[in-house]
Order: sequence, then structure tokens, then C-alpha cells
Amino acid sequence: MQFRLEDIPQEGREATFSQGENWLDERLQGEERTFRFISPITVHLSLSKLGNTILVKSRAEAKVEWSCARCLEIFSLGLTSEYSTILKPKPGFSLQGEVVFTREDVETEFYEGEEIDLTSLVQDQVLLALPQKALCREECRGLCPRCGKNLNREVCECAVGFVDPRLEILRKGKFK
Ligand SMILES: [Zn+2]
Ligand SMILES: [Zn+2]
Repeated sequence: MQFRLEDIPQEGREATFSQGENWLDERLQGEERTFRFISPITVHLSLSKLGNTILVKSRAEAKVEWSCARCLEIFSLGLTSEYSTILKPKPGFSLQGEVVFTREDVETEFYEGEEIDLTSLVQDQVLLALPQKALCREECRGLCPRCGKNLNREVCECAVGFVDPRLEILRKGKFK
């Protein structure tokens, strides 16, 4: 995902990339994984240039397979991440005077030289879009903490007479 500045015309340009399922493996090394990509990661980039400033709009799409954080069932979902980023030339530190970082710089990235490489930027954005924990559905009942049965599919005997201490607190609080 490299572009030479001179190859970005004033009127802008678009580019689409298709990355393999293992594109982010290196970035995720050593992390506990609860998901995997089951489709290529499609990245659509739209670049425009104003002087030395480049506006990058990126949209990444992929299908991801997860293990539910509550019931451990495998399920898949589509993932889309969309970002806009402003790229500016890295301030030359040989320049006299100070560089003032305003709030705007929070969403601004810098580039050096005559070429920009958007690979790690887009990778970051995809990683940010991945939730830390995913649930197969909002109301997933999870596994029984006692017998381990999947409570979405079956009812176990453990629940009889067992009151979740958190619910107990809620109940007391409510009807005091
Ligand atoms: Zn679940
Ligand atoms: Zn049980």
C-alpha cells in the first residue's frame, strides 16, 4: 500500500487491495486470539492531496470467526472499519522555531520523503475495529458456572435454588 506523492493527482485516486487471511498474524503475535479471519481482507483506499497534505479515507472489510466470550460457541460476523486520516510531512527538526502540536494533530499522521506507506496505518485501523470480546448475541446466556452446560441450548438443574450473587444485590437494592 505504497504510493508515491507524485502519483496522487490533485483530483485524487482510489485503490483496492485484497490481503490474505494471515495479513495481521505478525501484528497479533503473542496475543491471546479469540478470532480468525475467514475471508481475505479487502481494503479500499481513497486518497486526495492538497499541497503536501494527504487525506486518506480507508475502508476495510473482512469476515471474522469468533469464539463467543460467554458460551465459547464459534460464530462469524462481518467486520467493517472506516477511517479518515490526514497525512502531513513530518516536521523537519532542523527547522528553527518550535513545532506546535494542536489538538488536530491527534488524528494526523506524518510521512517522510516522497512516498507514503499505508500498510501499518490500515492494519492499526482494522485492529482497532476488532472488539476485545465478542458475544454470539447480545443475550447470550453463556455456560453454567457449575456444570458447564451451554445455557442457550439446554437447561440444567444447577439453577434451581442458585441465585447469582450479583442479582441478589440488585434485588435487594431495588426493593429496599
Ligand atoms: Zn455466546
Ligand atoms: Zn449447570
